[in-house]
Amino acid sequence: MKFTLSPSIGNGLSPSPTLLINERVRQMWANGETVYHLGFGESRFPAHPKVVGALVENASRQSYLPSAGIPELRQAVADFHSRQLQVDISADQVIVAPGSKALLFAFQMAVAGATILHTPSWVSYEPQSQLFNRPVLRIPASPQDGHSLQPAGLQRVLHNSPHDQHLLILNSPSNPTGQMLEPELLEEIADICRRGNVLVLSDEIYGLTAFGREHVSISRYYPEGTVVLGGKSKHLSLGGWRLGTAIVPPGEGGQQLLQAAAKVGSELWSTASAPIQYAAITAYADDSELSAYISKCTELHAARTRYLWRGLCELDVPCAEPMGGFYLFPNFDHWRKPLAARRVHTSVDLARHLLDEWQIATLPGADFGTPATELSLRLSTSYVDLETDQKAAKMIELADQGITAEQLVRDYHPGLQEVLARLRNFLSSL
Ligand code: PMP
Ligand code: GLU
Repeated sequence: MKFTLSPSIGNGLSPSPTLLINERVRQMWANGETVYHLGFGESRFPAHPKVVGALVENASRQSYLPSAGIPELRQAVADFHSRQLQVDISADQVIVAPGSKALLFAFQMAVAGATILHTPSWVSYEPQSQLFNRPVLRIPASPQDGHSLQPAGLQRVLHNSPHDQHLLILNSPSNPTGQMLEPELLEEIADICRRGNVLVLSDEIYGLTAFGREHVSISRYYPEGTVVLGGKSKHLSLGGWRLGTAIVPPGEGGQQLLQAAAKVGSELWSTASAPIQYAAITAYADDSELSAYISKCTELHAARTRYLWRGLCELDVPCAEPMGGFYLFPNFDHWRKPLAARRVHTSVDLARHLLDEWQIATLPGADFGTPATELSLRLSTSYVDLETDQKAAKMIELADQGITAEQLVRDYHPGLQEVLARLRNFLSSL
């Protein structure tokens, strides 16, 4: 039998690069190969026992649930984010789904017009829009200033756009750069968006992993035009549970958006899994034990990510200081000439070279929208030295015994130290 694929799939859409590199590394490990896995961003710490207990208790819930989520969970999410973001949020502003990735898709599909992305941006935003032929406009950024978002760039994109409606996706703390948007910048962006009638999808999935400064949501300055996306994948290390949340603006406009996204959900995933929704009520409770656990995990991510960042700085590799999450976006343009002699001309070549020659798995900047020949890479610190569940549990155990995150990085991270040694040798070999 022979099929022709639909144009949106057939015209060059690849499987998501994050999931692909993860599968590749796992296969290499299964073959007994050594690989230092900086390719995938997944918080590896154990699920908190309270949340696991809640899931066990609710395992027998087998019925389909309302598309936007059960009222108790929507209320818990509203309360949690009212406390976190210091704004009043009501349950009817909340929609839950199997992952914030699903909600990003639903909102992009639900509204007309074009999507605006700041470069570099997370791997899935643009391919999602390609699935339904949604135009994407990019605000360029350069490695010279750590790819920071320039409001003038946003204004220029809006000014030159042929589209009459826009949706801006913001992501702070950012995957892939680890950068955060300062409150003053958020205010400026809010102002531009208000004047241009731009809807903001604010991807704040890393909000509770911020360590460089306090996380501030653009919804504080632009409540009427911001949809805040979140979930439990990052700060509670529950990526595989697949639960994401969105908070729409208050009032009629917000309800219209929520209903539109729920319509997409009702046709695609029906509802988030029932046991996961009930268990999530516990995860969103005002619970000091859970908050302390989230802070501990964030501290460990911070120490591990800063350790790699400091190592890169010592090697004179330009890289913005991380502020949240577990990502770094270093740039190797300085080595363009010697790399070209090794047939490395693009970030894809560079990622391949590091994997083949130095056993370091990364993702090329191009997967995040940077120009092909810009030699940037995304490094995720979430896996190295936490490759197995046992290693991840042990790290938490050691932290519980009072060993500081800095000590842990110094004394219990042979993998990260080896990555830096290999990067040093790689650069000296050029
Ligand atoms: N946004 C960003 C920036 C991410 O890194 C991720 C995690 N891959 C997601 C959204 C989606 O997370 P989830 O679907 O697990 O909620
Ligand atoms: N957020 C992770 C990353 O960027 C992976 C999970 C995913 O892509 O869905 O590596």
